[in-house]
Amino acid sequence: MKHELVVLPYAKNALEPVMSQATIELHHGKHLATYVNNLNNLIPGTKFENADLETIVKESDGGIFNNAGQVLNHNLFFTQLAPKSEGRPSGKLLKAIEETWGSFENFQKEVETAGTTLFGSGWVWVAADANGKLQITKESNAGNPITRGLKPILGFDVWEHSYYLDYQNRRADHLKEIWKIISWAEVEKRY
Ligand code: MN
Repeated sequence: MKHELVVLPYAKNALEPVMSQATIELHHGKHLATYVNNLNNLIPGTKFENADLETIVKESDGGIFNNAGQVLNHNLFFTQLAPKSEGRPSGKLLKAIEETWGSFENFQKEVETAGTTLFGSGWVWVAADANGKLQITKESNAGNPITRGLKPILGFDVWEHSYYLDYQNRRADHLKEIWKIISWAEVEKRY
């Protein structure tokens, strides 16, 4: 099946100043589009030709995994953003966060620490196990905890292409600011 570039649920300039239109145009319009094109070019003639994206990520390796993983990761990433965050989650997600990290503020700090200490390119995920227990995972390159049976509900892209135009080398500042554009309504739907 042909994989498509995910449609953004907001205008390209709607996340400014946290994430500039130029970053969206490069990150979504160039980097993600390239992963989608690569995946579509790699799968014909393989057992993944008609597989859905999650199945490919769980079962592939090498170039197919790298591109499929990045398509899945970015689909989750771009659709979890909104021009104005609610500020914090509510309901059972907030409860699960408080159970694991004590407070929402401490959870944010742990996410930011994971992001700043991840060496090189990769992702920080907040993921749920089968019992709904949450954990923060650090993944290099195209990694996603879905390959270990966890459900990713919130992702932080710490590849330099994600923040370099707006924050240069200040990854920590990018992670502090991005909370302002997290759609907790969308994240709660995934939990
Ligand atoms: Mn990216």
